[in-house]
Amino acid sequence: MTVRKKKKTAAKKGGSAKRAPRKVFSFGGGKAHGKADMREILGGKGANLAEMSRLGIPVPSGFTISTEVCAEYNRLGGRLPATVKKDVLKALSAVEGIMGATFGDAKNPLLVSVRSGSRVSMPGMMDTVLNLGLNDETVQGLADRVDERFAYDSYRRFVQMYGDVVLEVDHDRFESRLEEAKRERGVSLDTELDGQALRELVAEFIEIVEEHTGQPFPQDPREQLWGAVGAVFRSWENNRARTYRRLNDIPEQWGTAVNVQAMVFGNMGDDCATGVAFTRNPSTGEKAFYGEYLKNAQGEDVVAGTRTPQPINAASRTRDTQHLPTLEGEMPKAYRELVRIYKKLEKHYRDMQDVEFTIQSGVLWMLQTRNGKRTTQAAVRIAVEMAQERLITRAEAVQRVDASSLDQLLHPMLDRDAERHLIARGLPASPGAAVGSAVFSADRAEEKAKAGEKVVLVRIETSPEDIHGMDAAEGILTARGGMTSHAAVVARGMGKSCVAGCGDLQIDYGSARMVVGDAVVEEGDIITLDGGTGEVMLGKVDTVTPELGGAFSDLMRWADRIRKIRVRTNADTPQDAKVAREFGAEGIGLCRTEHMFFEPNRILAMREMILASSVGEREAALAKLLPMQRGDFLGIFRAMEGFPVTIRLLDPPLHEFLPRGDDEIRLIAESLGSNVAVVRAKAESLHESNPMLGHRGCRLGISYPEIYAMQVRAIAEAASEAVELGLKVKPEIMIPLVANPGELKRLRTLAEDTIQEVREATGVSRLRLAIGTMIEVPRAALTADAIAEHADFFSFGTNDLTQMAYGLSRDDAGNFLVDYVSTGILEDDPFVTIDVEGIGRLVERAVELGRKVRPGLKLGICGEHGGDPRSVKFFARAGLDYVSCSPYRVPLARLAAAQAAIEMAEEPARRSKKR
Ligand code: ADP
Ligand code: MG
Ligand code: MG
Repeated sequence: MTVRKKKKTAAKKGGSAKRAPRKVFSFGGGKAHGKADMREILGGKGANLAEMSRLGIPVPSGFTISTEVCAEYNRLGGRLPATVKKDVLKALSAVEGIMGATFGDAKNPLLVSVRSGSRVSMPGMMDTVLNLGLNDETVQGLADRVDERFAYDSYRRFVQMYGDVVLEVDHDRFESRLEEAKRERGVSLDTELDGQALRELVAEFIEIVEEHTGQPFPQDPREQLWGAVGAVFRSWENNRARTYRRLNDIPEQWGTAVNVQAMVFGNMGDDCATGVAFTRNPSTGEKAFYGEYLKNAQGEDVVAGTRTPQPINAASRTRDTQHLPTLEGEMPKAYRELVRIYKKLEKHYRDMQDVEFTIQSGVLWMLQTRNGKRTTQAAVRIAVEMAQERLITRAEAVQRVDASSLDQLLHPMLDRDAERHLIARGLPASPGAAVGSAVFSADRAEEKAKAGEKVVLVRIETSPEDIHGMDAAEGILTARGGMTSHAAVVARGMGKSCVAGCGDLQIDYGSARMVVGDAVVEEGDIITLDGGTGEVMLGKVDTVTPELGGAFSDLMRWADRIRKIRVRTNADTPQDAKVAREFGAEGIGLCRTEHMFFEPNRILAMREMILASSVGEREAALAKLLPMQRGDFLGIFRAMEGFPVTIRLLDPPLHEFLPRGDDEIRLIAESLGSNVAVVRAKAESLHESNPMLGHRGCRLGISYPEIYAMQVRAIAEAASEAVELGLKVKPEIMIPLVANPGELKRLRTLAEDTIQEVREATGVSRLRLAIGTMIEVPRAALTADAIAEHADFFSFGTNDLTQMAYGLSRDDAGNFLVDYVSTGILEDDPFVTIDVEGIGRLVERAVELGRKVRPGLKLGICGEHGGDPRSVKFFARAGLDYVSCSPYRVPLARLAAAQAAIEMAEEPARRSKKR
């Protein structure tokens, strides 16, 4: 019924069949066209302004021009479609109605802000213009209604922002003029400039603009509005925004929305303020309302670092702000209102919020809310505590933490007990330790990091232009700015250590050095940051692995209960195995044996073995290696007690073990009782022009069965010894590089015979050893049914599988893959994230073929991909039994596996909902 009715009205009104989709969305006065889940077309800021409005939270009214218009604007070569302009003017008059003021009116002018806002927040990337609608006439109206100082302070800000953002006048020209004006009048803060001074400053600012553009400063508010809207749309294309998108994988085509919103004023006097706050501590995750504000200020003043912001409450105090009054103390009514609203927002969004607010004459207005960026540590704690508070479910908590960020928590922190030469202290803006040589510009940071040096970027304050340097640095140190400054926010997002607002630093970019007390730090000097305490140390401070208790272990426990796929580790030593078990590994998926041969006393025996000219000589050399290998394996079995341990037989090309230089050759000749010329000739004959496709993996076992026999014997003997010691062992022998079922058949027989010999010799008849293969040659994947006849398990070696099936050299692709990623041909490096469409299909095919022949076939993956969250999700879907990754990535894989299980469980539900 209702549908028909609507159709009629539409037909009556427009006459045309379909109404064009809405492109301008109003909000304010407790209503809104948009809502929170419309961020794709309204951008995050616009969607949340609409949502807050609907919730009855005080938001100055305004409207959002949708992200679709951004593409249209840029397609039309910088022009707004006429229909959009019409809708904008209509929405503007609605705002005028609500606010009781008129845009451009000389007596009672409505002023607006023009704010960018894309689908995901891009801090500081896009530009905002405040106080738009001011001109020589309306400023007088404002002065008459309030006072001259306020009117010209607003006008000064407007001309500066409009000049900078829309007309592209160098921002520093305004700043240095402002500094000069303060100096001339002997004041240090912009709030101390009186109306007269500001009036003069405005005139000079306008002059600066006109000199730059050669045109009069636009006085027509509508012209100003179109100018600012266009500039926001254009800013989507600027370099800072591009860099940020590239670093954060944000698609070009998303575009930004534009929000036009009635101004509220935090700069109208001492009962006014502007501030930012987090509903929980974004650095530690502690459940404490946390924020900063400035009195008699506007917009970005809080984060710009021009004045030291005050803490909103006692919990937000830092060492430097100990003595300052709080918002709670100074404006208790507005503070109480803020508390009421933040609680409502957190409950409504069910996540930690990052809010912006302004207080005009004691009345609170909310200007933004969004899910707050946080450190990994905070993410874990907040997710777990919100689940405990029953605000979210445990499954949601598991999904809240970005798996790939988890290993940040496991990396070393500064050793509490290590000696440290403290030179300064700033704000603990983003935790973790950073050690590196000091550099004072983003370009130098990038340069040195590219050359392999670890650097700490030191800046007076950072701006979006510094992003590439921040990305290259281990940590960031700034002299100015608070916990919500650019440096702090960006560093937390990147998971890097940051000490901000370290006022004692005297940084001189010109000579690339800084002075702190009586210490002088030149470019290249090593410094250490502790982002958890805000300490800055001269020289390198020792680090330790952090303890992982509390929230982290809760989250991991929940993840373990949810996930279906097991997580093992790649470990070659008992030490690695121990670390991995502490991180929750459930066995070893790949124990490489080649590393065991590189110790000085072993490599000699290894070389003798390779260069021996008879089976007898080879066996003699192998006999020396046998006890060493047995000892290695016993150590690993002990460390992994009760869990499976997959040991891969010798894999690398022989030439990796060949002697280099005359001295090494002579040594071997002596030890073999042979002569130098013979050994050299033999070594040369083993040279290969394409070793990765050459004599390696099981091909060695085919040519030199004694090698594999020795290794299998060492494994079997170690396992027997372990059994006799009362240990539970589950050894798995893995044969690498199989391409043909015949290889596996032959080597399996060899292994079984050897194991039988050991059984008879030791009398340990209970010995169970699984024998399986790696699937890493494409041919093996395609003939997996035939191969499965001889295998108890498959383990996908996705590094080699990618190399061979893609025809991409693992060792050389780094040089050109970047071009593929930057041109968009590839979304990811296929050695980092599995290429689902290509290599993934080989995996799926092999799983299907293998299980057809042997339903109980155990399946795992042991390539680097086992530690990549997106790849882990693919393997979970493909039905593997486990993934195996490096020890530090085990927790990350556990979490990603749980997230995969949740996603898979949700899918059928979602599908049926759609129907
Ligand atoms: P960003 O995306 O960089 O945070 P915003 O669009 O949020 O930029 O604007 C920056 C700041 O400008 C806000 O935090 C707020 O303090 C101020 N601001 C924006 N719009 C208004 C407004 N209508 N009234 C008062 N202040 C505003
Ligand atoms: Mg903002
Ligand atoms: Mg391999």
